[in-house]
Amino acid sequence: RDYLQKLSTAITKQYDYIMVEDLNMRAMANKGFGNGKATMDNGFGAFQVMLAYKLKRKGGKLVVIDKWFPSSQLCNVCGYKNKKVKNLNVHSWICPVCGTKHDRDENAAINILIEGLRILYEEMEAA
Ligand SMILES: [Zn+2]
Repeated sequence: RDYLQKLSTAITKQYDYIMVEDLNMRAMANKGFGNGKATMDNGFGAFQVMLAYKLKRKGGKLVVIDKWFPSSQLCNVCGYKNKKVKNLNVHSWICPVCGTKHDRDENAAINILIEGLRILYEEMEAA
């Protein structure tokens, strides 16, 4: 908990807006992450709460992306959805439409950023 406080303070000092994926902890715990599901849920849940209030305090925001958003499957360049990437063993892939070579995690992170910006923009327009 102390570590999460320090980590969330360090991150929120650097950024005003942070996008995170609301991960499916059950699936992750089952994939051999070592910790029990409850531990994972509590740890990540507490970390999200810390990020959220520390960002809010400085006028920023934590944007949580729905866990069903296919962040790994979408090509961040052309938007093609590659269902084969659902398989967690696929660490890199080449988009069959635009030919971009993707690192799985990097591509997912860019998609989460794009989706978070889209949500923020929608909220701005609605305000
Ligand atoms: Zn593409």
